[in-house]
Amino acid sequence: MHRFDEKTQQLSDAIAAYADNRLKLNPVPLDGVATPQELQELVGQTITREGMGGLPALELFTERLAPKCLSIDHPRYLSFIPSAPTREAAMFDLVVGASALYAGSWLEGSGAVYAENQALRWIADLVGLPPTAGGQFVQGGTIGNLSALVAARDTARALTDKRPYRVAATFGSHSSIETACKVMDAELVKVPVDDWQLTGEKLREVLEENGPDTFFAVVATAGTTNFGIIDDIDSVADVCDEYGIWLHVDGAYGGAGLAAPSVREKYDGIERCNSFIVDPHKWFFAPFDCCALIYREPMLGRAAHTQHASYLDVLTGSTDWNPSDFSIGLTRRARGLPFWFSLVVNGTDAYTEAIERTLEVARFANEEIKKRPYVELVREGSLTVVVFRRLGWSAADYQRWSDDLLEREEAFVVPTSHEGETLARFAIVNPLTSEDDITAILDTMA
Ligand SMILES: *Cc1c(COP(=O)(O)O)cnc(C)c1O
Repeated sequence: MHRFDEKTQQLSDAIAAYADNRLKLNPVPLDGVATPQELQELVGQTITREGMGGLPALELFTERLAPKCLSIDHPRYLSFIPSAPTREAAMFDLVVGASALYAGSWLEGSGAVYAENQALRWIADLVGLPPTAGGQFVQGGTIGNLSALVAARDTARALTDKRPYRVAATFGSHSSIETACKVMDAELVKVPVDDWQLTGEKLREVLEENGPDTFFAVVATAGTTNFGIIDDIDSVADVCDEYGIWLHVDGAYGGAGLAAPSVREKYDGIERCNSFIVDPHKWFFAPFDCCALIYREPMLGRAAHTQHASYLDVLTGSTDWNPSDFSIGLTRRARGLPFWFSLVVNGTDAYTEAIERTLEVARFANEEIKKRPYVELVREGSLTVVVFRRLGWSAADYQRWSDDLLEREEAFVVPTSHEGETLARFAIVNPLTSEDDITAILDTMA
């Protein structure tokens, strides 16, 4: 057996011990944020010609840098969309890091790609996509949405000599759709909503107004980031079918709810999409960064994204399943493996249970807000986002309250806004977030 030298062995043990300890912390500290000046004083210059040595470098991280990073998996981290990796997924991320895997091509990473594809298949089954559907794990919803929309555009332009340049999406669609359109020099047309949802009827009006053949894609959102609203996908799919327009479903946050029977019917029609994304790093308990991008017809993704070069001919000339062919980006980490491993270890029922648990706590939060006279729900909650107002508070009041909670490491709840009004918002994706956490935070607003 090969051995490390003594120093390297000590570092290896220390890193394993750190990871072991971090994964056992319960509760994890919320930790905080520092200014660049504060970090300059606390940490200073770390990279030197001689090197610092392993243990001091690790200590520098654990004692001075890590405490200045919020723990996204803290049960009272309820801002943006949090993340709550399972321990198995987080542990396996270490294995992925230690294994020098390359998962861009079948030739180089067939075992990893095979396993990742089973995780993609589980998701494709939840959506109801045919056995031929497939794709890859990209780093996040932003790249997932962009990659799908590029495939949609190329497909549309290959079919006609017109050059459709527009995308239609719901008003509540994520900022990354706007970004994707900017990158592609496409025009985003936001469709007015009907009771907060994108519907086929409203979509049809917008298509007719602008000329249906100027559109190459429609984006339905399955769980808006700010409110958790799921568009009326079935009626949207009818209109997409009628006009022959690609339907992309952005389920970056809400897609995980497909595994929860109590909300499954809200997604009806999703099986008709041409492409779909969900971020396992959001509500599917995987570590950053991980987005499943799935095409109904992977060939169309491949036609849009395969990179060609003489030094790649050995890969692109084959019929192998090369993940890099389905998205922007060539080199890729096997970032779907931690998610896959956790699914294998825990079984999919555990995922259903954990997601249902977060839905239960979100329903509790809705009820609790209705009971309290000083707060008011903005809209009856959908999925696990809860948006509410504190009666009588100004934007500055919300900010002060939020800053104070973080300062005391009590909770991380930043305000959001809707139609110009500042509001409070909980996003619950952590099965360890409890009813007590919700009441404790609401109590601080009294
Ligand atoms: C978070 C989110 C995105 C962007 O995903 P990233 O992983 O942050 O790039 C896109 N769409 C929706 C609905 C989201 O919630």
